[in-house]
Amino acid sequence: MNYVFPPATPVVLPVDGCAAVFPVRRVYCVGQNYAEHAAEMGADGRQPPFFFSKPADALVPGGGDVAYPPMTANLQHEVELVVALGKGGSDIALDQALDCVFGYAVGFDLTRRDLQSSAKAKGQPWDMGKGFDQGGPISTIRPVATLGHPATGTIWLKVNGELKQSGDLSQMSWKVAEVIANLSGYVRLAAGDLIFTGTPAGVSTVVRGDLLEGGIDGLGELKIRLV
Ligand code: MN
Repeated sequence: MNYVFPPATPVVLPVDGCAAVFPVRRVYCVGQNYAEHAAEMGADGRQPPFFFSKPADALVPGGGDVAYPPMTANLQHEVELVVALGKGGSDIALDQALDCVFGYAVGFDLTRRDLQSSAKAKGQPWDMGKGFDQGGPISTIRPVATLGHPATGTIWLKVNGELKQSGDLSQMSWKVAEVIANLSGYVRLAAGDLIFTGTPAGVSTVVRGDLLEGGIDGLGELKIRLV
């Protein structure tokens, strides 16, 4: 095959305890999947899950330095459990959904909240609020083979050492299996897909120079510096 220019390098994530890496296909995200965060975003009650996407090359594997993005005066953090799929399908049954999971990671769904809020108000897409360069720092993947399927565990994020977000995976409105089953009704899922599963309450504005540390107890941690 001759390309008119070299194709982009595949985005890959390290896997804990494994020499091979995880090749990323698509990156989906669930909106407002913790009741207290949904409330702080102005929603009320348990709504059906809704989804948006980030480009795979917005991921920042392993964290580290992240460039403060342009066109925003209100960048916010969202710490999330990320599901990494080892297989997929369409209309996946609820009781088979977890069989599709290869592993889990910690991710930050960085958000240009001002752009997202103005898009929401105008009924416009969220892409420029959510899908910007380096908008998805993510940790090493922990495989199900050694981790299992975490359903509980503290999920937290600190900015410059100060605790901002603290919740528990058990507070997810839509559980991992429900998210996979529901999403697979809209799109065919496949190996390499990631799903950011939503954030607990406590999102806040961050600025250049801030250190963001987040984690899920029993799973892992992720650290970035905004530069
Ligand atoms: Mn999010």
